[in-house]
Amino acid sequence: PVSKDKDALSTVAPYACQRQTPLIHHNSKITDALEILGKAASFQGSEVRSLAFARAASVLKSLPCKLQSIEEAKNLVWCGGHCQTVIQEILEDGVCHEVEVLKNSEQYQCMELLTSIFGVGVRTAERWYNDGVRKLSDLADLHIKLTAEQKAGIEHYTDLKQPVTRDEAERVESLITRALDRFVPGLRITMTGGFRRGKQQGHDVDFLITHPDEEALNGLLEKSVNWMDSQGLLLYHHTKARSHVQTRRRSTHMDGHETCYAIFALPNHDSLKAESGDFTSSGACRWRAVRVDLVVAPYEEYPYALLGWTGSKHFERELRRFSWHEKNLSLNSHGLYNVEKECSIPATSEEEIFVLLGLQYVPPPYRNA
Ligand code: ATP
Ligand code: MN
Ligand code: MN
Repeated sequence: PVSKDKDALSTVAPYACQRQTPLIHHNSKITDALEILGKAASFQGSEVRSLAFARAASVLKSLPCKLQSIEEAKNLVWCGGHCQTVIQEILEDGVCHEVEVLKNSEQYQCMELLTSIFGVGVRTAERWYNDGVRKLSDLADLHIKLTAEQKAGIEHYTDLKQPVTRDEAERVESLITRALDRFVPGLRITMTGGFRRGKQQGHDVDFLITHPDEEALNGLLEKSVNWMDSQGLLLYHHTKARSHVQTRRRSTHMDGHETCYAIFALPNHDSLKAESGDFTSSGACRWRAVRVDLVVAPYEEYPYALLGWTGSKHFERELRRFSWHEKNLSLNSHGLYNVEKECSIPATSEEEIFVLLGLQYVPPPYRNA
């Protein structure tokens, strides 16, 4: 059986999009450690090292069983060098010293805190850290200039830090479905992101919106967002217009779909009761802040947008890398392009895109790479 396991481990496919990666897996102790190292590397501005840790963690997430020995790890793709030391330490001692030190360091904790604010990326967090920011209240004390997005993120920090549950996500869904339906009936509205991959909670709720009639989508997002705002349902919103995405050699991370990044005031379950005159629990909060992303895609781009917004981020990164390096095709959430022939390749479903790429179909619950 030992050699059989060895075979299974040495035959793990190199790209995450060639593997099935479930949400619940058998090596989370190791992958948690590798992901902390990856995060720390990105805090230090090293995307290359961060990616190496993400790749190793992703391989371990796809394994059908718990890793038993360092010998087994030696056969795994992307798990060499530094990762092996980490794996060995965890297998032998249950913890990795380097990770424990990192987790407890002031810089790591502070970067983690600052990057968890809506509208704050690694670069901004680093700048603030260097300016002496250590806790949220320092931002005001040190008179740090904030964008409107960051102000909203700080104002609703406690709510936004609280994970969004599936129940809350479904309440957001019915809320936006009702709002959009006022303007255009017959829209296709799909919950994407982590919830589509089967996660029970998330940092936000993502929706993809389309309609067979492209005209119907014109101005839809603006009108419906303004209406929701007038109903007091929005605490913050910023709409990015549709932009033309070039068929570049390498696809970029950002796409050009019309997108609304919002913070919703999601009414509580019992708020209706309260409104009907039952104020027994006076002072109780009747809504909570929830981050929501709304993306509008033209019907022809819908399968590509669905694939692109379902994630995980690492799965998407790997799909694009596979397309480019193995198939000479450029993939993004608008389409698939043959750069040499300067033509785009249409698809009517996610399944069809996998066929076009010569990949076995990976259903959303197995894209948790
Ligand atoms: P969580 O539960 O934490 O929200 P998630 O997987 O839903 O996890 P998101 O950050 O909401 O993470 O992103 C969902 C998907 O949408 C990801 O796969 C990401 O690649 C894609 N995505 C997010 N922002 C953009 C963007 N600006 N342009 C293109 N794709 C994006
Ligand atoms: Mn999400
Ligand atoms: Mn999102």
